[in-house]
Amino acid sequence: MSHYKVIARKYRPQNFADVVGHDLTKQIIQNAIKSQKLSQALILTGIRGIGKTTLARIIAKSLACTERVDAAEACNQCNSCKLFDEGRHNDILEMDAASNTGVDDVRSIIDSVGYRPVHGAKKVYVIDEVHMLSRNAFNALLKTLEEPPEHVCFVFATTEIHKVPDTVLSRCLRINLQPFPLKAIATHLKNVCVQEDIHITDEALDVLARAGQGSMRDAMSLLEQMRPLSFDGTTIEASHVRDMLGVLDPSTVADLFESLQHQNRHNALTTANELLRQGVSGENIITLLLELTHTHIMQQAQASEPVANLPSEVVLQRYWSILVKALQELKTTPFERESLNVALLRLMFAGDISHQPTASTAGGEKKNQLTIPETCESFPQLLDILRQQNKLVLASNLKHYARVETFQHGAMDVHFSDKAPKDMKRQLEAALKELFNDAWQIKVLETSAAHSIKEEQDLKQKQLLESAKKHPLVKKILEAFPGSSVTIQ
Ligand SMILES: [Zn+2]
Repeated sequence: MSHYKVIARKYRPQNFADVVGHDLTKQIIQNAIKSQKLSQALILTGIRGIGKTTLARIIAKSLACTERVDAAEACNQCNSCKLFDEGRHNDILEMDAASNTGVDDVRSIIDSVGYRPVHGAKKVYVIDEVHMLSRNAFNALLKTLEEPPEHVCFVFATTEIHKVPDTVLSRCLRINLQPFPLKAIATHLKNVCVQEDIHITDEALDVLARAGQGSMRDAMSLLEQMRPLSFDGTTIEASHVRDMLGVLDPSTVADLFESLQHQNRHNALTTANELLRQGVSGENIITLLLELTHTHIMQQAQASEPVANLPSEVVLQRYWSILVKALQELKTTPFERESLNVALLRLMFAGDISHQPTASTAGGEKKNQLTIPETCESFPQLLDILRQQNKLVLASNLKHYARVETFQHGAMDVHFSDKAPKDMKRQLEAALKELFNDAWQIKVLETSAAHSIKEEQDLKQKQLLESAKKHPLVKKILEAFPGSSVTIQ
């Protein structure tokens, strides 16, 4: 059985020439190495999977090489190069700060710094994820960084440069590695596929490169996952990759967008939920809608007159803000489906300008919906009208404390109980004037034999209770359970 090596490891660059992209950075480093003017401390930074550690190791090998003359590349022949390739070079120390964060781990480095290299031209310390070192560990290292012996070089790598203390940063040559452009990733993947005899379409490569999000390593490991498909000679298609990644097909996004535009709720929600079921993430759906919205905004902005089959620019701008907000929400919410659905409904709402209330009409419309009758036939009807017009406190006070003797449209004789607000009459008059655009004659009586509506209700309740207590069955129960009481629900 042949020895199988994963693609990412097999194609890991072994020298500067093999490194894909980062051209300017490579040139700077190579020139510095060639002219013996490389800083004794370097820090490589950038997102994961863009070759920081790989580059750090190439630099280390090159610096340690004893036969390197007037060149930046290691010779690959000398004892130092061979030992490095075999992974047993005593002068090149690789440490992962993620698992060695303490001051003791750093101490072993500091203690060995004073000794001259045994096999290589230099002693090189490669510390990966250096930001993980503890504060004390950084402090311990600082002294050595200030005045490193001439035969020593430090190469740090980090994804989180802001976590590295300034005191350390100020002593390092900082090298920012940029994420790989899509094209660079796709081209590299294509080269690998040719060499490995993997049949794959350009579109599939593009989907893989996109999914890598600037990280070559991520893209390579995705290719690794797809690879078995090609073992029987199958050509890997974009649809295969999308299926595996749960990536949305652009035509589906266009369909979804159209449903949103035409406010076809059923279609939009069904499509979105079906996509979630297939494993496409809500973030993915929103991101692609954002991209499409941006494209349409640009189309509208650049057209001499509005593009007819697209939402207007104003609506598209609204889409944009809703989608940006939704994307932020989806990154943190545990309710993916719910958040997505609400975002889609908002989008459909945003498209309908007639649904957008304006400050001047919002209140007025509401009032006009409930028409006030020309004449009010009874006191209970008056209370209903007051409630409809949101005069709830007045309606409630009247219900409790107004004992109405006579009522007709335009006039009433009424007695207010002691608990009524002092200016009840004035409040009522003002409300009636507003509602009917007419002054009512309100005569306030000193006493009254009438009841307020609330008193009337209480009385009825009491009578019901009394008659219930007289019912033979209830009587028996009350006798059987002394001390129990009767209530009416
Ligand atoms: Zn060498």
